[in-house]
Amino acid sequence: MRQRKPLVVANWKMNGDQHLVHQVSDSLVALSGALPDILICPPVIFLPNFPKHPNYRLGAQNLSEQPAGAFTGEISAVMLAQAGASHVIVGHSERRTLYGETNSLVAAKVAQALAAGLTPVLCVGETAAQRAEEKTFQVLAEQLDAVYSAQPQWLAASVIAYEPLWAIGTGNTATPAQAQQVHAFIRQQLARYDAAAAPDVRILYGGSVNAGNSASLFAQTDVDGALVGGASLNATDFVAICLSAKGE
Ligand code: PEP
Repeated sequence: MRQRKPLVVANWKMNGDQHLVHQVSDSLVALSGALPDILICPPVIFLPNFPKHPNYRLGAQNLSEQPAGAFTGEISAVMLAQAGASHVIVGHSERRTLYGETNSLVAAKVAQALAAGLTPVLCVGETAAQRAEEKTFQVLAEQLDAVYSAQPQWLAASVIAYEPLWAIGTGNTATPAQAQQVHAFIRQQLARYDAAAAPDVRILYGGSVNAGNSASLFAQTDVDGALVGGASLNATDFVAICLSAKGE
């Protein structure tokens, strides 16, 4: 089995303020010893307010599928990189459901991210209804195919986040066994695009991760970290989640 360094991502969504920027950055800067990779994705306006520090990196929650031009309100991948982002979340379920992002739009956004040197954190996941109809694997395969089947070389530069919609913001975390089953499926699927890269791609779990359940999720073979929403808005909780993921 390959060693994959865990990655813990904070997705602040449209929350937070300068006070939280200070709390989170101060808490993370104070950490020492073996740490996982830590990525903070605040609203983009806060990116320049984070002090640069090797204990964490910064990411965005969304980007434009266009490189530049008359696209009012949009932010390009190049601009995000210039603002200090190294990663960008793409295809979060809130973007797919609330803003109508299709699989092909998500693929166009991944293309822009990679062209600007950003690592895409591609979110995939099924609804409760799709799970009940036993369509989980089919839905995930479609979401992954839309990005990687024509561009398998993108895989090695990507992070995948499995985020079942029924678990996001609901308190209904997937059990460690449920997460492992799906992550193993995702890794198998990734091997169809690039068998050499698949064992090294980090697959994160997202959906009501907190300081009480993170360690048991991270103990699963194919769970390589987490994408954390609500619990990332509390610096103490977020640090506890990070510390429950083994560093190098
Ligand atoms: C998310 O927003 O990606 C998420 C997983 O949220 P929460 O941790 O609040 O369920």
